[in-house]
Amino acid sequence: MSSSSPTDSRRQFLRQFGLTAAATAVAGPTAALATSPSAMQYDDQQKLGFAIVGLGKFAQQQMMPAFKECKHARITALVSGSPDKARKLAREYGVEEKNVYSYDNFDSIKDNPAVDVVYIVLPPGLHTEYTIRAAKAGKHVLCEKPMATSVADCQKMIEACEKAGKKLMIAYRAQFEPFNLDAIARIKKGELGKLRQITADHGRSVKPTEEPAEAWRVQKKLAGGGSLMDIGIYSLNATRYLTGEEPVEVTAQEFSDKSDPRFKEVEDTIHFTLRFPSGVLASCTSSYSIQEVKRFRAFGDKAWLDLDPATDYYEHHMTIGDKDGKRQPKIKEGNQFAAELDHMAECVLQNKTPKTPGEEGLKDIRLVMAIYEAARTGKRVKV
Ligand code: NAD
Repeated sequence: MSSSSPTDSRRQFLRQFGLTAAATAVAGPTAALATSPSAMQYDDQQKLGFAIVGLGKFAQQQMMPAFKECKHARITALVSGSPDKARKLAREYGVEEKNVYSYDNFDSIKDNPAVDVVYIVLPPGLHTEYTIRAAKAGKHVLCEKPMATSVADCQKMIEACEKAGKKLMIAYRAQFEPFNLDAIARIKKGELGKLRQITADHGRSVKPTEEPAEAWRVQKKLAGGGSLMDIGIYSLNATRYLTGEEPVEVTAQEFSDKSDPRFKEVEDTIHFTLRFPSGVLASCTSSYSIQEVKRFRAFGDKAWLDLDPATDYYEHHMTIGDKDGKRQPKIKEGNQFAAELDHMAECVLQNKTPKTPGEEGLKDIRLVMAIYEAARTGKRVKV
């Protein structure tokens, strides 16, 4: 009798998981309770394998550590242009040296059964190329925000993954963060009354000469744009998930000091408004030359709800105000990064469409382009 390899037992588990999901769909939730994956003990061999492409600041400081809290995802490969850095991180995360790739031999990842999902954490100008290469290699793709630097590139990424029959998810972590989810639920339940307006602000001081991770952020080709592409997109995305609607019209104004070398190619400050079909008006700001702000406030006719910070990595804070005063609801912090990674893995395992698929990233990039057009022309842009 042959003993099963770790890969065999992992495949067997994946099949079981798939069958459990199918049984749930047919027989309803009670039938699945006895074998519910979430009730099982998970070991590393039973998790989906992720290849991390781009071992920069965000990957190293936030995402890679978060895998330790994942139920369904683990790091099985690394892709980097710096062999020494990759080897050091491989040792730290228990990645086999044969699973360390360079950007040049990345395509040979197609022959590696230990990799199910490719997670792209490169500058946005490289997201399209690596998504298409990953899809061609037969891998599912999780890609960082902003999805790409043009609408056409977003479409190419969606098409490549569709053609390969692979999932594509954009890493909108705030949509997996407990305070944001709680805010969405309260608005949906009508706790604020009829939603009327939203204000959202995202800003920080970009420091391309001091921080290696900032250099590409002021280069149009790699970043696609300035503060709006990088952080204003959180204001934009929040207005869409808080209203549950798609805007129909945008206006915008930009100010960038062109004598500041940081803003030769990309914008600094951009303010924009969005009109939603229900009548909700959103007023958003995005800046690369102020102290850090990551907040929003939703105003209904009965109450307002404030998250400040709203889109930080940890330690969010909610305040609700109404005619009786202000209160701070107790909400349990949760690891949004691990939740996002597990969601991607679950979508692959259960053949579900991700909550934030390629189309979600494309919608934001379409709006970003409309905002740039409105700022450039000074006209309202219908979307
Ligand atoms: P970073 O510069 O620290 O990391 C980028 C990595 O890409 C580096 O390891 C760099 O060596 C590599 N790279 C490969 N080719 C490159 C090239 N031609 N030019 C520049 N770098 C190249 O940046 P980061 O802050 O880690 O951002 C990476 C991605 O993650 C971006 O898409 C960014 O928008 C996204 N991000 C998301 C969040 C979030 O909260 N979801 C936060 C920060 C960054």
